[in-house]
Amino acid sequence: MELFDLIVIGGGPGGYLCAERAAQGGMKVALFEERALGGTCLNEGCVPTKTLLNSAKLYRHATESEAFGVTAGNVTLDHARVVERKNKVVHTLVSGVKGTMKGCKVTVIDKRAAIEGRAEGGFAVKAGSDTYTAKRLVLASGSETVVPPIPGLKEGIESGFVVTNREVLDRKELPKELVVIGGGVIGLEMACYFASVGVHVTVIEMMPKIAGPTDPAICKVLMDEYGKRGMEFKLSCKVLEVTKDSVLYEEAGEKKEVKCDLVLLSAGRKPFTQGLGVEKLGLEMNRAAIVTDSHLCTNVAGVYAIGDCNGKLMLAHTAYREAEVAVNHMLGVRDEMRYDVIPAVIYTDPEVACVGESVESAQAKGLAVKEVKLPMLFAGRYVAENRGGRGFIKLVVDTDRNCLVGCHMVGSYASEIVMTAVMMIDTGLPPERLKKLVFPHPTVAEVIREAIFQI
Ligand code: FAD
Repeated sequence: MELFDLIVIGGGPGGYLCAERAAQGGMKVALFEERALGGTCLNEGCVPTKTLLNSAKLYRHATESEAFGVTAGNVTLDHARVVERKNKVVHTLVSGVKGTMKGCKVTVIDKRAAIEGRAEGGFAVKAGSDTYTAKRLVLASGSETVVPPIPGLKEGIESGFVVTNREVLDRKELPKELVVIGGGVIGLEMACYFASVGVHVTVIEMMPKIAGPTDPAICKVLMDEYGKRGMEFKLSCKVLEVTKDSVLYEEAGEKKEVKCDLVLLSAGRKPFTQGLGVEKLGLEMNRAAIVTDSHLCTNVAGVYAIGDCNGKLMLAHTAYREAEVAVNHMLGVRDEMRYDVIPAVIYTDPEVACVGESVESAQAKGLAVKEVKLPMLFAGRYVAENRGGRGFIKLVVDTDRNCLVGCHMVGSYASEIVMTAVMMIDTGLPPERLKKLVFPHPTVAEVIREAIFQI
């Protein structure tokens, strides 16, 4: 039986980057992936959704181009071709990961793996009828869609009337009426795509607002913008039942129905650890999540859990960074995970990007903060490229420590601009120093510079 230095279970962004970094660090690595390398992120998450959203953005720009002096004629969107292109993009990126694994001499095993227990020299993992051993284990098994116990939901999934992010991305026909259960980030991005290409979308959300903890003023802009595209929001509404052609929900104590030809279930995700064999090693769990410390170590020495399966911050870039921190721990390199400066983006149109504290979260931690809010219209490029536009930026400043601790924005390029704020928060530089940074002109990012001068 071959002894590896490291076995990684799960080939998503956490798992494949971990395998790559460990191999680069001189370890002999085996990576188990039961579905497709790239995991949720490349195959049915981040990348495919952004590919669709880009087509929706092009379509919208083309249909609204007259105001910019461009007549585009008869603009149409062929959803089947959008999906075809998405498949090509996914194929290109997954092939890239395969090539990287090969280049790093990582042994990729296309099988489902489960922990068998301790073994001489480390741990044993079973895949099919074979057993593999390694000195260390990294669990990177990702997450799965939450299926709430709503009557009719399971039957709907079986019949294809209800889909999750997995199936919806492969459907070649557009529905006429789509109901999205859940107004979180994933639901909103998909709702934004479908509404932008002419589908009537109703979002049913149990909470009084969309997009989870996102700044309420940002959510208001999103709802107004989506509303213009005909999207309807049913907030503070509880889904009661899914029938063969409708969704029943409760609004202010009244039972209501919305007819539709497709339902997208997007009511959250949870760590996917079932059948992984965590009990064989007595790993400490918090419900389905594997408990880890700031080095991604579990309660069992030599076993790490990275990415969505530890349930901390279910984002691909968190998984990447956790992979590096875990490998550094194995190699004895000083490193530690920081969760407070991880940006979060909603890739709708307009885009939303946030990092760090809000005024409320900062005050809850006892920080003395002040907020600076500025419309994106302060940036020349934003004015040039938008008709009006309600985009804005909010900076949260720690007045005791004299540094930036949060940034929240809605508007074009927010996903790219937020990295500037990440660096400002991470370095903790005072506003006086940040004022000396020179931004390229004209860029929308200049709005950060303008906001810093208002502190
Ligand atoms: P995953 O990517 O889920 O990979 C885990 C892999 O492990 C899977 O391929 C699975 O098949 C495999 N596996 C599990 N158990 C076993 C086993 N026992 N044996 C073998 N293989 C196993 N995040 C962002 O940062 N930005 C975004 O824009 C974004 N958009 C998203 C859009 C959607 C629709 C969804 C669903 C998610 C999105 N996410 C986004 C979240 C992001 O996809 C995840 O945070 C990220 O994929 C987590 O990476 P991971 O490596 O932990 O797990």
